[in-house]
Amino acid sequence: MDIAEWRRQLQKGEVSARELTETYLARISEVDSTLHAYLEVTSKRALADADQIDLARSAGEDLPPLAGVPLAIKDNLCTKGIRTTCSSKMLENFIAPYESSVTERLWKAGAILLGKTNLDEFAMGSSTETSAFGSTSNPWDISRVPGGSSGGSAAAVASGECLAALGSDTGGSIRQPASFCGVVGLKPTYGRVSRWGLVAFASSLDQVGPFTRSVADSAELLNVIAGHDPRDSTCLNHIVPDYRATLNEPLKGLRIGLIRQCFEQDGLDAEVKDSVLAAANTLQSLGAELVEISCERFIDGIATYYVIAPSEASANLARYDGVKYGYRAEGAETLGDMTSSSRAEGFGSEVQRRILIGTYALSAGYVDAYYKKAQQVRTLIRRDFAKAFDVVDVLLTPTSPTTAFKSGEHSEDPLAMYLADLLTIPANLAGLPAISVPCGFDKSGLPIGLQLIGNVLDEARLLRVAHQFEQQAEIRENSVKGPFIK
Ligand code: GLN
Repeated sequence: MDIAEWRRQLQKGEVSARELTETYLARISEVDSTLHAYLEVTSKRALADADQIDLARSAGEDLPPLAGVPLAIKDNLCTKGIRTTCSSKMLENFIAPYESSVTERLWKAGAILLGKTNLDEFAMGSSTETSAFGSTSNPWDISRVPGGSSGGSAAAVASGECLAALGSDTGGSIRQPASFCGVVGLKPTYGRVSRWGLVAFASSLDQVGPFTRSVADSAELLNVIAGHDPRDSTCLNHIVPDYRATLNEPLKGLRIGLIRQCFEQDGLDAEVKDSVLAAANTLQSLGAELVEISCERFIDGIATYYVIAPSEASANLARYDGVKYGYRAEGAETLGDMTSSSRAEGFGSEVQRRILIGTYALSAGYVDAYYKKAQQVRTLIRRDFAKAFDVVDVLLTPTSPTTAFKSGEHSEDPLAMYLADLLTIPANLAGLPAISVPCGFDKSGLPIGLQLIGNVLDEARLLRVAHQFEQQAEIRENSVKGPFIK
């Protein structure tokens, strides 16, 4: 059921919010011991909130737009009174004293929190295997990863353990797991959605966005979470359109650019390529015009990102010093020893690797050669996109070069893991909105994702193209027949 259908059923009194919440909680009990999408399930609060919605409905009150919609939230978004761990031993017992802006908006809109979902530690990773609390499995094949870092949210939506979820995307962490799990994942324009209360990883790249079963649901969630927030100085003060209103406007005359460099990559799986090109043809049949586009610097995004993101992370994660937050090592004699042991014991190896790389890239003597150079390449990538959007309205690429890989396949090889984000990172570097939509399956029955990248603040158009593709291709109907989802 999608959100619009749920709203209808709730208003008619056909199903109560309690019944819907209980259905999802039962689903979690049934499958989450296998999948481990959730770190914590907040059943009591969920049922109490659902009862409030039912009371309001029977009293004839106007219901807010997401009344009774059961959601899962990535565990790097602060939730007041409920643990926010970032899947790190460092924050294992951290209870945020405040609520993030995005979740606050969701609860005001009537949504219900089912629980907090697993992620790669501090959102660093592409497989949800760097979580300090154990990995999450892909619902389509439990020997495979769900992608990452928002793998818990993606798996929860795909397996029917929630109606929709939130994740965060710094270099692809919404789109890549959405693609691996066969769901829709949207990274909004940088600044479209508030980052207040999102635990910072790389502040110039991080954005919060929705995971949903359908593009229409993605529009529903964006309607609620987008908009200015005075508490985040990078949050844009622009009117939020009703993203649902334009979903069905015709695509005729729309120009879609296929980025040549993406389709020429050695590591691009042939089945992924074929499926994405077939999707482009579907869009053409809907009236869009396909144009080949060159973005020379697109592929340099990954090298650029792995200087900029760790640099920002090394600064952001300096606050975890054993004093101000979180884990403190026992038995140290001096303040210096206490800080370093706390960080050595509290952070996992991927987080430590990023801090080391970032500290190195920012250190005197190297900052010009690495950090400054990376910022210059970032500008070139931005310019490539700006030139492309002079010619086309939307860009099209695969979301990930491959379908979901086996658990453990890349754990020993960070570089191989980093390549999973080859195609998603450039949109973060340029601050552009991008969406992943299911577009097919490979021979083993694993989902493939199509990525659409839009110009700044062009989410409405992105959602429109994605929605009409989804309706035409009927992947969603097929996708619910997944191997795990009986
Ligand atoms: N996989 C990328 C990384 O490890 C992106 C992570 C993200 O978007 N949060 O940095």
